Amino acid sequence: MKTNLKKTVLWIVAGIFLVAAVHWAAAQFQYRRDIIWTTRTDEYRLVCRGIYNSALEELEEITADLRRPWAVVLDVDDTLLSSAEYRIALKRRRTIFYRPRWRDWCRRGDDPAVPGGAGFTRKARELGGKVVLITNRQEELRAPTEKNLQLRNIEYDALLMSGPDTSKTIWREKVEKGTAVPDLGPLKIVMLIGDKVTDFPHGSDAKQFARKWGQKYFIIPNPMRP
Ligand SMILES: [Mg+2]
Repeated sequence: MKTNLKKTVLWIVAGIFLVAAVHWAAAQFQYRRDIIWTTRTDEYRLVCRGIYNSALEELEEITADLRRPWAVVLDVDDTLLSSAEYRIALKRRRTIFYRPRWRDWCRRGDDPAVPGGAGFTRKARELGGKVVLITNRQEELRAPTEKNLQLRNIEYDALLMSGPDTSKTIWREKVEKGTAVPDLGPLKIVMLIGDKVTDFPHGSDAKQFARKWGQKYFIIPNPMRP
């Protein structure tokens, strides 16, 4: 009786392992539509370029008669630099023991650019504004992040990174007050561009957000959210 029970338990355990193994193996061969759309389609490139073109047109209008020093604020990941290669690396991991960590990945400093972003930063500066990047990347990643931005011809006047006493909201306030970076001075933030609502003030306030979308706030599409 005891032997039969043991056998049954063993079969159940073996069955569970078999199902898990098949599920894992099948997942390795499944494609992710979000990554495919982001990395392989003209539509993604055109949508991004279109948004940056629209943002630039609005920027020209907003700043035409502006006499105060001003800035545009942009997020970094999936707004200016694409994390698609990281997502692919996660997807293609060959063993369950290899899973690149985001910080290690950032240290490579060679992520591709989001289409249209570099041109926008250059033109915003040509219009006389400052380009301020606010990212959730940690301060320890400054050097590879700067290398990556330079590699992709993304221009900026300040790169504000995440730390123990900062948040995107705090950084925005400091930019307006002129205390974010020495010598940058107080700047009126005239536009924000990001890929998440949390890149914007009142991002979770749908009504307020809706009024500003496409005028002061621009969202870059990012379907690859984990
Ligand atoms: Mg982002």
